[in-house]
Amino acid sequence: MSNLHDLYQEILLEHNNRPRNFRILEDANRQADGYNPLCGDQITVYLRVEDDVIADAAFQGVGCAISRASASMLTQSVMGQTVAKAEEIFEGFHALITDPDADVDFDLLGDLEVLSGVSAYPTRIKCAVLAWHTLTAAIEGKGDSVTTE
Ligand code: ZN
Repeated sequence: MSNLHDLYQEILLEHNNRPRNFRILEDANRQADGYNPLCGDQITVYLRVEDDVIADAAFQGVGCAISRASASMLTQSVMGQTVAKAEEIFEGFHALITDPDADVDFDLLGDLEVLSGVSAYPTRIKCAVLAWHTLTAAIEGKGDSVTTE
């Protein structure tokens, strides 16, 4: 179990150190800002949605390792997916980090599985979920800020 924990830690830190799709998406047609006041995490999610498919996804922001790693994995996992599929991934991810006994489709989640450990830390759940709430706001075209409060 500790080896698995070490592996998870390594993947998480790697995403934090070299976040994927950490850029401003110049041709984004959806974007939203998210803020987690408990931790100070701030994020902007950019999407280019074409015919209900997330053709491109990127983010910018400052925050803790968990918020950054989660955002990095989010952009990877929703890229090229339909909006409906992205929402399905979010539902699975939300179950993973809030309910240790949830029946989760790990194939759907990929690297996101490494964040399962946050389910034991309620304050960190908000860090992990911030990018996802921001993604939802962007998809829905709200354009304004969301917070985890
Ligand atoms: Zn945080």
